[in-house]
Amino acid sequence: MKCPICESKSQVLDSRPEKKGIRRNRECKECLTRFTTHETLVIRSMDKHLIQKYHEKEEGCI
Ligand SMILES: [Zn+2]
Repeated sequence: MKCPICESKSQVLDSRPEKKGIRRNRECKECLTRFTTHETLVIRSMDKHLIQKYHEKEEGCI
């Protein structure tokens, strides 16, 4: 992750899980700017076998 000020590499100070993702507190090594990023998990594609398994699981519940 680049620093928004000087575009140098930033370092992760700590990360905390949130409801739908993760929050990371970062610090830039160059200008010492501290900022926070929010990462959200989004499934874009899934393996065919996994999709089949998922449906089988759903049908089993009915
Ligand atoms: Zn910086």
